[in-house]
Amino acid sequence: NRSLAEVDPEIAAVLKDELGRQRDTLEMIASENFAPRAVLEAQGSVLTNKYAEGYPGKRYYGGCEYVDVAENLAIERVKSVFGAKFANVQPHSGASANAAALSAMIKPGDKMLGLSLAHGGHLTHGMKLNFSGKLYEVAAYEVEPETFTVDMDKLREQAKREKPQVIVAGWSAYPRQLDFEAFRSIADEVGALLWTDMAHFAGLVAAGLHPNPVPFSDVVTSTVHKTLAGPRSGVILSNDEAIAKKINSNVFPGQQGGPLMHAIAGKAVAFKIAGSPEFKERQERTLRGAKILAERLTGSDVTEAGVSVLTGGTDVHLVLVDLRHSELDGKQAEDLLHEVGITVNRNAVPFDPRPPMVTSGLRIGTPALATRGFGDAEFTEVAEIIATALRDGQNADLEALKARVVKLAQEFPLYEGLEEW
Ligand code: PLP
Repeated sequence: NRSLAEVDPEIAAVLKDELGRQRDTLEMIASENFAPRAVLEAQGSVLTNKYAEGYPGKRYYGGCEYVDVAENLAIERVKSVFGAKFANVQPHSGASANAAALSAMIKPGDKMLGLSLAHGGHLTHGMKLNFSGKLYEVAAYEVEPETFTVDMDKLREQAKREKPQVIVAGWSAYPRQLDFEAFRSIADEVGALLWTDMAHFAGLVAAGLHPNPVPFSDVVTSTVHKTLAGPRSGVILSNDEAIAKKINSNVFPGQQGGPLMHAIAGKAVAFKIAGSPEFKERQERTLRGAKILAERLTGSDVTEAGVSVLTGGTDVHLVLVDLRHSELDGKQAEDLLHEVGITVNRNAVPFDPRPPMVTSGLRIGTPALATRGFGDAEFTEVAEIIATALRDGQNADLEALKARVVKLAQEFPLYEGLEEW
């Protein structure tokens, strides 16, 4: 019964330092969030001890009566939040959800057509070093060089030429909504299945602030830890009973052994919260924050310094900053913001002239700060700090900017009362 601090002071120090970092800085990595204390409690629980291979009511281990309750709650809640008939809540991560989903839809050697990684797609959508690129034949679609958006007419022509078995809608870095109805019609026209990976925007969908891909897609996958703010993990949804059966057998025994019941309990909590009015209000602040940021980063003073925003704005929880014409590259901009206490990630822009380790872009997201409580006034202040840093580069008064960051962080305390985690 000894505490972590007693057993392993080095790891206890890591937890303490990381909590301090999360409290003292402003987290703007678009794929991150702060799981609520209730989710942390479920995850850091005795459920981690339990083996539960199989599915609720059909386990290969005894003693599953309580974890069955948790998994059934997670399944029922996520189905209700997204209006899906079937759900598998066992995937350990977004990538493993995608692997199981793909293997339920196509066989090795079949062709998938997804958004290119360089244009905002995810590794699991067909990148050559990923399982998806190794197992399946891959064709990639891209955004247009003028608009930086996907042209659905061109995609239709490409799909007719390529004749894929699966078309992928979804992205890791794209600031606009996709037209799921058009995706459905293209998939039908070429006889392909439609898979939507809503990992990034699932929270917005749950809040009714983004079109729901579930009615249009054969399979929808998601992570639970991004805009949804749950435990780090994945989920798969479908309205098709035959595909849902294949998904279940591909997750277990196809791909995984024992499910992480502590994470599944955390998912149940996150899906309960995702159905609440507070969650919707938070997603509204997330969206408004991203719009405020996009507006500030298209102001004349920053554009004169070569900084702008891809597509000129955003409809989602992130902004893609275009630094192709700026003296700062993505790496320098990321480091500069890190110095003032704002965490973002550099991100290649489509048609990026700079190498992948450097890049000409930043991906900046508002979900974590919205969870922290930020509203329009705070997002306006953060946008001003970021704009000043990117505009003035190394000439910016970094100490003064950092003081403004510290003030915001102090005004919105994180995990109050938690000293141990
Ligand atoms: N799908 C998309 C669209 C993502 O952006 C990500 C993560 O960045 C994933 C899947 C993979 O999730 P995980 O990191 O949990 O494997």
